[in-house]
Amino acid sequence: MRLRNITGSREIIGQSPFVLHDPEQLKGRFAKEVFGNDHEIHIEIGMGKGRFIMEMATLHPEINYIGIEKYSSVLLRAIQKMEQLETPLPNLVFIRMDAETITEVFDHNEIAKIYLNFSDPWPKDRHAKRRLPSREFLHRYEQIMAPEGILEFKTDNADLFSFALAEAPEAGWKILKQTTDLHHDTDMNQGNIMTEYEERFSSAGNKISKCVLSRVITKMILAFLMASLLLTETVKAVNTVPTEEQAAAAENRKRMRVESNELTGWPEGPLLGAESAILMEADTGAILYEKNIHARLYPASTTKLMTGLLALENSTMEDVVTFSHDSIYNIEYSSSRIGIDVGEQLTMEQCLYGLLLGSANEVAYAIAEYIGGSYDHFIEMMNERAEALGCKDTHFANANGLPQKDHYTSAYDLAIIAKECFQNDSLATIAGSTKYTIPPTNKQPEERKLDNHHLMLPGFKYEYEGVICGKTGYTSEARQTLVTLAQRGDMRLICVIMREEAPDQFLDTQKLFDYGFNQFQKMNVADNEKKYMLDAATFFRTNYDIIGSSKPILSINPNGYIVIPKISSFTDADVAITYSDHGNPDVATLTYTIDDHFVGNATIDYADNSTRTFEFANILVDSEKVIPQKVIPDHKIIFIDTNKLVIRVVFCLACIFAVLVIIYGIRRYVTSDRRRQRMKRKRFRKWNKKLF
Ligand code: SAH
Repeated sequence: MRLRNITGSREIIGQSPFVLHDPEQLKGRFAKEVFGNDHEIHIEIGMGKGRFIMEMATLHPEINYIGIEKYSSVLLRAIQKMEQLETPLPNLVFIRMDAETITEVFDHNEIAKIYLNFSDPWPKDRHAKRRLPSREFLHRYEQIMAPEGILEFKTDNADLFSFALAEAPEAGWKILKQTTDLHHDTDMNQGNIMTEYEERFSSAGNKISKCVLSRVITKMILAFLMASLLLTETVKAVNTVPTEEQAAAAENRKRMRVESNELTGWPEGPLLGAESAILMEADTGAILYEKNIHARLYPASTTKLMTGLLALENSTMEDVVTFSHDSIYNIEYSSSRIGIDVGEQLTMEQCLYGLLLGSANEVAYAIAEYIGGSYDHFIEMMNERAEALGCKDTHFANANGLPQKDHYTSAYDLAIIAKECFQNDSLATIAGSTKYTIPPTNKQPEERKLDNHHLMLPGFKYEYEGVICGKTGYTSEARQTLVTLAQRGDMRLICVIMREEAPDQFLDTQKLFDYGFNQFQKMNVADNEKKYMLDAATFFRTNYDIIGSSKPILSINPNGYIVIPKISSFTDADVAITYSDHGNPDVATLTYTIDDHFVGNATIDYADNSTRTFEFANILVDSEKVIPQKVIPDHKIIFIDTNKLVIRVVFCLACIFAVLVIIYGIRRYVTSDRRRQRMKRKRFRKWNKKLF
């Protein structure tokens, strides 16, 4: 019994460069001939339309993949998808083969990893012997697997999973529970390939053969359709590929207003399909690009940045987290997870990799319980932290980002959360690692290999120069979300993309980084602020002496920067000064704007010897925007009003002068008086002499 192939499919398969044909050529050491000696080989048995294996081969260029598929009609679609790729995948080949014959083709101990999605045995005959996960077949896979090989079951069907577990032989290798999360955050272009193929055949004069549709074949085709339906249903929960409607909506969103494009003197930013997007300089908080940045949208897994931040702030990497029953069972089975079991123990460091690389929901839950004492308390902590950071459009209802109505944030809020997160070196390191291996645990003798889903990191498809770290997110409600940090020179840019369709979350980010790095410059305020500096500041320095210091009192903090368009110069930015009401160490802040848009600031601090002098007094004279002088309580008195200061100085000098004059006058008077008396006495003595 076999499924009828589409006419012509065998020919196409026969000529395809993506398919290995000759069983003799394949047999024995085939892998070494094709891929070389020491390459890791993964196979997918029953690869379907090739979606998963193509995604994996794209994500891991260093690993070699073989897709095995029994049915030509299915294999055809995979071939066509390979033909559509812009760049070929040299690490992937297909074989049309029945899994039953697998030991005839592969050598013993050859394969490092086997992926098995057994959506194939629909419930009616799932115990059938010749099904992919049947005990009989599993024993065959066992023979071709390396001693430390891994069999990964990926399914979102809990029943099928337990069926496979029951069938699993007590072999040396381990079955890893792997979920459909593997489909997350990938970007293969899907589309209805089958239809396209049929069209191609009909235009070439080849039609699907109808004359042979016997009753049995009709049944088989119906069964096949049912299977495809099942398959579609399976994939649906994790399907990141936009429907036509979703793609059209994204296209429409390119017409939305981009607020930053309306600023005078601002470079024109790109039009994106994202519902909202922001590009923020990480040190200054200056916003270079903004589109609908305060809209409340679903963050999806970018939520885990906050979860990670709280974990890092409230625990050490060595803390041991024990996974509770709730952490495993309160998370939707088909959602993103890395297969942790109840009672399993991971260090906080391993948890953080699971959280930020593996985007594991059960790990987010366990971290929340551990850090918060209770899950609910952790959610409160998340909301408090968000509020403290200044988030106005954020409310967290869970620790992982699974869709809930009252779980939302905005691109702006997410950028300030990310800004805080990425200042934490550990978090940035973890969120920027391309891969991580969780070593065996108390419940799991096998390693778990995790790969970052962020495809802009080094070695991935959308690799971008300067990308340091980030977090991906996807749910069918949120669509794609993406947070990324990139640095070139001293410019550190955070990009947040919300509600975009794959793979444009990466391309949008790329466009915004190009825009930021090419069109903007970061300038140090202390180095460039000439407006309030006097070259010969002796007069004012003398004044400092008057109020008791021989050093300058105030200076611009050398860490103050502004980020402005490259076409602008420092002096194009307007500056205003505001006084701190909390006092030390900063006295006031210089805030810079272009067209009333914040571009950065610098505090003015009590000076120490190392910082630049700032002639504070002159601000009143130069700037119209200055806020009137006020005396800051509990502060040293600072004379800010030049006029007052000058008047006081003049008044002091006048007083001194007056005193001097008086003293001089008195002395003169006294002196002359004495001389007169001396003269009198002299004359008196003369007369005396004359008289006697
Ligand atoms: N692994 C794919 C598809 C799973 S559906 C994915 O995760 O998307 C199972 C696939 O196995 C189907 O494409 C089916 O045609 C194929 N298949 C079923 N029995 C097989 C066998 N004995 N040998 C090889 N492939 C088989």
